[in-house]
Amino acid sequence: RNEFRGKKVLVLGLAKSGYAAAELLHSLGAFVVVNDSSPENGNEEAKALRSKGIVVICGGHPEDILDHDFDTIVKNPGIPYHNPVLTQAQQRGIPIWTEIELSYLVSEAPIIAITGSNGKTTTTTLLYHILNIGGKKPLIAGNIGTVACTVAQNAKPDEVIVMEVSSFQLAGTVNFRPKIAVWTNLYDAHLDYHGTSEEYALAKAKVTDNQNEEDFLIYNADQPEMQPYINRSKATKIPFSLQGKRAEGISADDELIYWQGEPFVKRSIIKLLGRHNLENILAATASALLMNCDKETIENVLSSFTGVRHRMQFVKELKGRPFYNDSKATNTLATKSALSSFESPVVLIAGGLDRGHSFEELRPYMSRVKAVLALGETADRLIDFAASCGVEHAVKAESMEEAVQEAFSISHDGDQILLSPACASWDQYPNFEERGDAFIDAVMKL
Ligand code: ADP
Repeated sequence: RNEFRGKKVLVLGLAKSGYAAAELLHSLGAFVVVNDSSPENGNEEAKALRSKGIVVICGGHPEDILDHDFDTIVKNPGIPYHNPVLTQAQQRGIPIWTEIELSYLVSEAPIIAITGSNGKTTTTTLLYHILNIGGKKPLIAGNIGTVACTVAQNAKPDEVIVMEVSSFQLAGTVNFRPKIAVWTNLYDAHLDYHGTSEEYALAKAKVTDNQNEEDFLIYNADQPEMQPYINRSKATKIPFSLQGKRAEGISADDELIYWQGEPFVKRSIIKLLGRHNLENILAATASALLMNCDKETIENVLSSFTGVRHRMQFVKELKGRPFYNDSKATNTLATKSALSSFESPVVLIAGGLDRGHSFEELRPYMSRVKAVLALGETADRLIDFAASCGVEHAVKAESMEEAVQEAFSISHDGDQILLSPACASWDQYPNFEERGDAFIDAVMKL
């Protein structure tokens, strides 16, 4: 921690993570300048940082800002590398970090870092629950919890940080070395930011770049496209697979989960729905086993954990119809995973912001959908798509409340009622959380 004393650091972006990084670096004796392109407009954070003696510049990037000879830049993960300050910094050879690098450097507790295109939040939350019940003193950090560097700053050596990390955050790491890295899967995503699939995969692979054989890398062995990146890792590798029993790592067949080739727990105890969630369960269980959690603890959690809010969250059962809130499903891949979780007929509430994307990916799963209540900008396109798949009842709903009431009135005992929009929420809601809350409110009113 002493290494920051007297260092000059530029923090780019005054969001939650920038604020936390600036505060931490200042407390470690660094000279800190914070720069944000948005106008200040009475920003309370800017005032608070200034009162501590931190320089804050808002409303643009001064051309000569880098003339202050910064040792390091800590940037908000959302700022692209083609930002003019960052291109200049790259030319001058100034290291560019995100705050998870800082977290690693200041943390006295080991870090479990969870990344992947999908399943990060679910795996992180599940693992946190197991470690918590198992008395391992976990601290949750990153996108779901408190900013990572704030958690890391206060973490004690006998605690463990369970950190959800995105490719954006990993792109800005140099020495970051988690004790356990979990890489759930690799799908093409965020190509607007990372440029190519290769660059996106390389950013994810940074989770294991600095690991060695004392560390562990838990990865999806059912995705051959990940293998080249896994092969390069020096960590002890723990594969997970849904393709039946394997001698190494953690695996599952239709009945059992196996650990190192031996039966471990029965799948029938698991409450969390969905094949994709079984992957998340394997990844979390393997991490918990590496942390010496016992079987009983793991069984307890697996038999009670029903999902994360807005992600295939079981809301309530009414007259034999379970209601599920999967508002986080903002693309067709996520809705496909949701639909594949159910055997019995589904009444699907979907639709939202129109990005011009196709619903075709859902077609193989539409045979289990008996009705669609379509919301938002994509309503008409979704109705046409549902009709083309042979769904008999596909109608538009003007509001979430109307959709939920209609879903209830047309459904029967044993039908599943699912909000899984396959679209972002911004046409009607500020975010997917509020969309999910509107669904829950409407269900509670029935
Ligand atoms: P993330 O934090 O990576 O966005 P979440 O756990 O919040 O992931 O899940 C987001 C959506 O992705 C869920 O609604 C679910 O349908 C889908 N999903 C979750 N886990 C997986 C997985 N292992 N593979 C594929 N899709 C998944």
